[in-house]
Amino acid sequence: MAKRKPRYLFRILLVVIPAAMIFLGVASFRTGPAAMIEIRPTMPGIGKLTPVEISIDEPVRGLSGVRVEVVQDERVEVLEQRDYAPRAPWQFWGPRVPREDMVVNIGKETVGALKEGEATIRVIADRAPAWLRRPEPASAELTLSVRLRPPSLQVQSLHTYVSQGGSEAVVYRVGDSSIKDGVRAGEWWFPGYPLPGGGDRDRFALFSMPYDMTDGSEIRLVAVDDVGNEATASFIDRATAKPLRREEIRLSDSFMQRVVPPIQAQNPDLTESGDLLQDYLTINGDLRESNAATLRRLSEASPPEFRWNKRFVQMRNGQVMSAFAVRRTYTYNGQAVDQQDHLGFDLASTAHAEIQAANDGVVVLAGYFGIYGNCVVIDHGYGLMSLYGHLSSIAVEEGQTVERNEPVGRSGQTGLAGGDHLHFTILLRGLPVNPQEWWDRNWIHDRLKLKLGAALPFER
Ligand SMILES: [Zn+2]
Repeated sequence: MAKRKPRYLFRILLVVIPAAMIFLGVASFRTGPAAMIEIRPTMPGIGKLTPVEISIDEPVRGLSGVRVEVVQDERVEVLEQRDYAPRAPWQFWGPRVPREDMVVNIGKETVGALKEGEATIRVIADRAPAWLRRPEPASAELTLSVRLRPPSLQVQSLHTYVSQGGSEAVVYRVGDSSIKDGVRAGEWWFPGYPLPGGGDRDRFALFSMPYDMTDGSEIRLVAVDDVGNEATASFIDRATAKPLRREEIRLSDSFMQRVVPPIQAQNPDLTESGDLLQDYLTINGDLRESNAATLRRLSEASPPEFRWNKRFVQMRNGQVMSAFAVRRTYTYNGQAVDQQDHLGFDLASTAHAEIQAANDGVVVLAGYFGIYGNCVVIDHGYGLMSLYGHLSSIAVEEGQTVERNEPVGRSGQTGLAGGDHLHFTILLRGLPVNPQEWWDRNWIHDRLKLKLGAALPFER
């Protein structure tokens, strides 16, 4: 027995010593590999604020330190610095951060000293060190142009007088660097178009002061370049307040029993609670909003052309039951249960009266349409549409070209209608606007024709 002991020891040493040497070797020299770095700017240059996506990959020992810098001339600005714990040199498994995806915002807002010219984005990723080796970090660079001046923007037209809920036009000129321009009014965006017959940079926009906007100074002309520099101009000379009128609608069981089931049958996606009032409120709220979204979407496909050249016409012998822009409070058993804005004209004559197109255009919707029941929508170009709701019958088809005064259907009480009438709306980019202006040849002449000139083929 005593003889075999040294042999054991020898065998153990035979294993332990090389293992220790391997361990020492690994610990001393096994550095992490150079990380893979990708820099992807989301815009073609640096402007006001350019988000830059950066990914760093090191799946072996994991990330150890990452720094993002912006270098311009001699100036180095650190925008982001992150530290990580990589695996130890001898660890082949265990926790580590193999990849980082980050977005760094670079622009005048984050780097105050940024100047026009060129700037370099530099990403430095440390390599996980070993005991005896501390390798150079991996790095990647991307040089981009810095542009801080927004496009030039000059308002050309004069006398911009707009009313709450009303429409207007503006003619303007933008600089070469503009890639998007138009009028911003609160949440609403009215895109600009090339002015027909104008110069390269001559543009115009039809816009509206939304019916629920009270401060006309919120309306701005805007031009943006490809790196987000934005020029804005105030151009409203006079904004006239036209406060929403208010009205109470008393909901009765008999009314709801008549209107709710047919609308539900036409809209199988609607949630039905079985409670009549609740189901009515879903239609009056959710379905109304979904219809509004559809109208906004339809307007986006409107072509850049004036399809009309005369004033819009009002329903023949239509008595005005309700005018544009009324805030309605709905009550049930004396309790206020809902509030919605009525944004069209309700016009009534005899039952099943013939309804005519208000102007030349193309039918973009002809069928059952939510709260409007049987409905026709005509696109008049440049995002301007007219809507005819609650019809008993429809005489046109989608895609059909119609002329002013051509029959589109007959009045009725389909959808959310209390009796036989026409619900008539004019929409600009999906926003209901006051039709009275579009019915008025003098308004069209003074507000639109005088600004747009030959671009608008209007016969007074
Ligand atoms: Zn109506």
